[in-house]
Amino acid sequence: MDTNLPVSAHPRVVIVGCGFGGLRLAKALRDAPVQVVMIDRNNYHNFQPLLYQVATGALEADSIAYPIRKIFAGQKNFFYRMADVERVDTARNMVHTSVGEIRYDHLVLATGSLTNFFGIESLEKNAMQIKSIPNSLNLRSFIFQNFEKALLTENPDEKQALMNIVVVGGGPTGVEISGSLAEMRKHVLPKDYPELDLSQMQIILVEAGKELLGPMSVKSQQDALRYMQDLGVQVRLNTSIKRFENCRAYYSDTDFIPTENLIWAAGVNGAEVPGLPAEVVARNKRINVNLWNQVAGFQNVFAIGDVANMVTEDMPRGLPMLAPVAQQQADLLAKNLQRILLGQQPEPFKYNNKGVMAIVSRNKAVVDLPKDVHFNGFFGWLTWLFVHLMTLVGFRNKVVAFIDWAFSYFSSDQALRLIIRPFSRRDVKDDKGKKAAEHATATPEYNPTPPAIQTPA
Ligand SMILES: Cc1cc2nc3c(=O)[nH]c(=O)nc-3n(C[C@H](O)[C@H](O)[C@H](O)COP(=O)(O)OP(=O)(O)OC[C@H]3O[C@@H](n4cnc5c(N)ncnc54)[C@H](O)[C@@H]3O)c2cc1C
Repeated sequence: MDTNLPVSAHPRVVIVGCGFGGLRLAKALRDAPVQVVMIDRNNYHNFQPLLYQVATGALEADSIAYPIRKIFAGQKNFFYRMADVERVDTARNMVHTSVGEIRYDHLVLATGSLTNFFGIESLEKNAMQIKSIPNSLNLRSFIFQNFEKALLTENPDEKQALMNIVVVGGGPTGVEISGSLAEMRKHVLPKDYPELDLSQMQIILVEAGKELLGPMSVKSQQDALRYMQDLGVQVRLNTSIKRFENCRAYYSDTDFIPTENLIWAAGVNGAEVPGLPAEVVARNKRINVNLWNQVAGFQNVFAIGDVANMVTEDMPRGLPMLAPVAQQQADLLAKNLQRILLGQQPEPFKYNNKGVMAIVSRNKAVVDLPKDVHFNGFFGWLTWLFVHLMTLVGFRNKVVAFIDWAFSYFSSDQALRLIIRPFSRRDVKDDKGKKAAEHATATPEYNPTPPAIQTPA
């Protein structure tokens, strides 16, 4: 019972997920009169925005992850349990995990998101995704393995399918990985595979909408499209992939792109946790929260980050799934939890959009700042590198990433192209999400009754 957690006179805040939101919240509660219990299935924090660089061999996996216990070494009120949270029991204030039950006084769900294949079975089975470190290492291994196979076949159609790469989804992840693959085709693959005719290799970026980088400014969208074309990436707008089987990515019943490599970056769902009433689960499986991050109908259950569906006046479809949203919600929730414990009124959340950016390739990135400020090219690229380097967790990781980037930049090469076996197209851990009823978004309202605080006997 309670996985051997020590008894404390302070209320217990259980945080599920040590991503951008959970990590920030646990840190911000360092000096609060609470016991913080973090549960994550991985014993590391994963810096997702750089996963695509692991997938294309530009960065080591270890340089974008950091062990949770090391991050919190010395934080006396912090306890970590490595476990999968399988269900929440709100009637008993318990979470059921793969290592036992854990009681909470306040529960914060910060479980992030899962890839959404929109129910297309052949994609779910055969496409590669970039949501975790194992996914990214699998992707890298898979692409290089297919190049090894391409050397062996004499069938030109098979060779073509093994070398072609289709990226689905023209958001930042799709654009970033397509750009990175195009660089790999130009600088790395000719050195490793001089026997292959790389002019035959196609990188195709497929987007269902009418532009790339949907949420960004028109200027950034146009710049990104131009950069993609300069890099030789074929961009197909207003196109959807309907199924992917037998090395064919079909965009209509009969028309297809021959490929063995399809990377799915076309959408995500919230990683909701079973046990909450169906009414609190919104579209995209995000959990409806009010402006205080309270889960609709509960006083002591909160959700932050990607999994939280917070609707604001200017964002009626919910706040975007971005790291700064998760971090800002965590900062405010840390303050609000302390206010609630003191019987004070908590403050509502207001998103401070500091800008969005996407990198395309070396010397090419697009940046949108508030007040219609946009810039691109080399300065945008430097800004992207600086922001990502500064936000990486851990000094060692910053140094390693900097060295890897400098090495790639000056040598036009990248050292990381091991095929690590065994690998699979899918990381099963990412498939944990259960089906939840689609539900209209609840009107946000703060639930003012202070949570019942249980003091251990
Ligand atoms: C490839 C990629 C590129 C991105 N690029 C950008 C970018 O450039 N800029 C930007 O702002 N955002 C970017 N994002 C989005 C950003 O990473 C997310 O918005 C952010 O990670 C959300 O933080 P979070 O705390 O909500 O969840 P996450 O960071 O996803 O963390 C969730 C944590 O919960 C754990 N977990 C989940 N379910 C369970 C469970 N049942 N039991 C135990 N543990 C569980 C997971 O292991 C994970 O550690 C990108 C995302 C991806 C995938």
